Amino acid sequence: MDDCIFCKIASHVIESDYVYEDDRVCAFRDLSPLAPTHVLVIPKHHYETMVDGVASEDLVAMTHAVEEVVKSEGIAETGFRVVTNGGADAGQAVHHLHWHVLGGRRLTDDFA
Ligand code: 5GP
Ligand code: ZN
Repeated sequence: MDDCIFCKIASHVIESDYVYEDDRVCAFRDLSPLAPTHVLVIPKHHYETMVDGVASEDLVAMTHAVEEVVKSEGIAETGFRVVTNGGADAGQAVHHLHWHVLGGRRLTDDFA
């Protein structure tokens, strides 16, 4: 996907503030953080949403990345939230699958 910003971040064509990376996924800080920790976990492969035939290996890698991020951010014990927006009604702005990992403060009942 030549025009996808997250594909460019995943391939380091555009650099970001990475906090975790392996061969299948990377995690980087959100440009407009909604909480003290607001990290985006993405697969390197371009999927639009969770219902785009995501390979099980990518789901496992994303879950592992969440574990690494919440531990390194120090929020594994205090609490964290994982959110993914799919499609227009959810307000998905970037059409490359991403999981928001939020924590570091008391989270509300809304998105964050
Ligand atoms: P969505 O609404 O699609 O679930 O969330 C997209 C998220 O990506 C937003 O929280 C937005 O701040 C973040 N974002 C958009 N463009 C960039 C970017 O170029 N770099 C980073 N680090 N975050 C971005
Ligand atoms: Zn992409």
